Order: sequence, then C-alpha cells, then structure tokens
Amino acid sequence: MLQSLRLSSYSPTIAEIDLKAFRKNIQVLKKHTKNNLLLAVIKTNAYGHGIVPIGHEAIKAGADRLGVSTVEEGAMLRESGITAPIHILSTISPMQVADVITYSLVASISSLQLAKELSREATLKNRIIPVHLKIDTGLHRFGVDPDNAIDFCTTCYHQPGLNWEGIYTHFSRADEGDWVTTGKQFALFMGTVQELKNAGFTFSIHHVGGSTITIEREDMRLDMIRPGIALFGYHPALRQRNIAPLKSVMKLKSQLLQIRELPPNTAVGYGGNYVTTSTEKIAVVPIGLGDGYKRSFSNNGEMLVKGIRAKIVGTVSLDQTLIDVTHIPGVEVGDEVVVMGKQGNDEITAREMAGWMNSIVDEVLASMTQRIRRVYV
Ligand SMILES: *Cc1c(COP(=O)(O)O)cnc(C)c1O
Repeated sequence: MLQSLRLSSYSPTIAEIDLKAFRKNIQVLKKHTKNNLLLAVIKTNAYGHGIVPIGHEAIKAGADRLGVSTVEEGAMLRESGITAPIHILSTISPMQVADVITYSLVASISSLQLAKELSREATLKNRIIPVHLKIDTGLHRFGVDPDNAIDFCTTCYHQPGLNWEGIYTHFSRADEGDWVTTGKQFALFMGTVQELKNAGFTFSIHHVGGSTITIEREDMRLDMIRPGIALFGYHPALRQRNIAPLKSVMKLKSQLLQIRELPPNTAVGYGGNYVTTSTEKIAVVPIGLGDGYKRSFSNNGEMLVKGIRAKIVGTVSLDQTLIDVTHIPGVEVGDEVVVMGKQGNDEITAREMAGWMNSIVDEVLASMTQRIRRVYV
C-alpha cells in the first residue's frame, strides 16, 4: 500500500519483524507436535505482524496449515499464492459462503444455517469442500452443544458438497492452568466424538488446543495443534517459559523528533495531566492512538532511549507521545527510541506493556495499526 507512493522516505515509526525468530519459534513448537499436523494460527493480521509475509514464512518453516479469523484474511493469503489449507476459526456469516468456496477456505461449522448454505453453494459450483465441526465444551462462544451433536450431524452430515474432515473444540481455561476444568472439557469433547462415531459420524482430524496445549499437554494434542501467540514469541503463561524457549518477533522503533526544555511547573499535553517539577527535557515520539499505542499508557508507560528508560508524560494523543528524557546523557533529536523490544541491556516486552493497560500480550500486538510500517528482517 505505502510502497505504491513515491515517497523518498517513511515515518520513523516501524515494527521490525524478525523472521528468523519466527521460524525458530515454529521449529520449537514443531518439536512438540511429533507427528501431528501443525496449524499456524495467524489470525488478526498475524497478531499484528502482517498476515501475508507471515503466512508464507509459516509454511516455509514447516506449518502444515494456516488458521485465520476472517474470510478476508483467508482470501488475502490465497491471492498471495498460499496453497496449504486455510481454516477460518471464527464463525462467519452465511452471506460469505460464496467467498469460502471461491477461495477454497475451510469453514468452522456450528450452525445448521451455515451448513445448509455452504452445502447449497458447493453443490451449485460442483464442489466438495472440507469443513470442520466446532463443538462447544465450555467457552460458550460458538459451537454445537454436545447434547445436540447427534441431531446436528443427523441433519447435516450427509448433505451434498460437504466433506466433514475435522471436529474440534477450544478450551476456556487452559491458559490459566486450570487443568480440572480443561480436563472436563477435554473429556466432554472425547465423549462427544465417541458418541458421534457410534452413530456413524466420523472425522479424520481431531483438534482441541492452542499454544498452551501445544506446549504443556502432549496427551491432548490429538491429530493437530493450533498454536497462535507462541509463534510470535510469547507464552500464554509465564510458567511455560522453561518448557519451550521462544523469541519475540516484533520490535517497535521510532525516533525523537523534538526535545524541549520546559521550566518547572509547566503543564504538559492535553488536559495538563503532567506538570514538570523542575526544568525537564520533554521529547516528542511520533506514535499514538492512531498506531494502536494506548491512551492508558499516559503517565504510565516507558520507552527506551540510549538503553535507558524514559517515562511517558502527559496524555498519549492520536499521533504523538511525550517522554521525559531529562536524565539521559547526551540525548539528541534523531536518537532512536525503542517503544517495544531490546535496546542496550534493557527490554520493554509486549507483556510489560500489557500490564500497563491491564490486558494481555495479544491485545498489545494485534492493536498495531497499518500506519506502522512492518519491516521484515
Ligand atoms: C486464537 C485461537 C487459537 C490460538 O490460540 P493461542 O492461545 O494464541 O495459541 C487456537 N484455536 C482457536 C480456535 C483460536 O481461536
């Protein structure tokens, strides 16, 4: 998109994507898969890392399949030349069935209406398309209720044009290490699979978990695993750090565009929410809400300059954030700022940033908007 503009230079705020780290993470996770299929979950623009380059890299590094959240993401990957199966892990609208077939995507099915529409469209186009049945074992987001699974399959399983290749579920409490609840959900899933089998409804690919199951529960890996966030270097839970060594893939860099020396008692930024206590050097960094940098970082977060932490002062605005660089020796306009990642001996991780906003790593990464140029190294 930006590449089509005849710019002599770009905004200094970039996300550096370390493809070597990404490949290494895939290899580490592949060791956990043994003979299972590896579906690389690269939904939500590859958790902010850029879906098309990451999709190609995932396949090159040994992923068997890709998982996305929307039909649009699946179509983009297909248009870019990916031939591996692409699963849509979220539920879709029946209005999108034609695109699912055009782009040969694997839909998750948990409603009779969607199954019917897909069957009708596939038959119309003389196609037999693979689909996966989603069972709800306790996340209560979407999925067929285990009690209704037999009725559901009785209605849908033999509809023309559909190949029921897989059956799966997604756990609600694995990341927090609640193995009692997860064990019950797994048992419910396996019980449902058995009942369906007894009734003549079989599937060849069974799968249940994301990164946490991939890393911690060999017994639940079944035919395929679906890691997402771990591919990008972050464990869903810190307890997993010693089981699988992962490396963060995204680094956010920018530049000091201006430094001003403000006298004591100067109100800084919208609302004057920060007031200098002495003469302070306040610097402008061109990143803000429009880049996915959060307002809750106001007077709260930090960035690195010359390997030293600088506090965010005042309110983060749409395009700019101010930091206090008073204590940084030799600081100058043009100095590199690391917003996320390593600089010198220090590092600001997405996990730390998630703490500032009371959220999880996924939100920090996936929030990064298109305005931040991704540079693949
Ligand atoms: C997002 C998602 C995953 C990946 O989860 P992580 O915790 O990021 O590994 C796996 N399966 C489904 C169905 C998902 O929606």
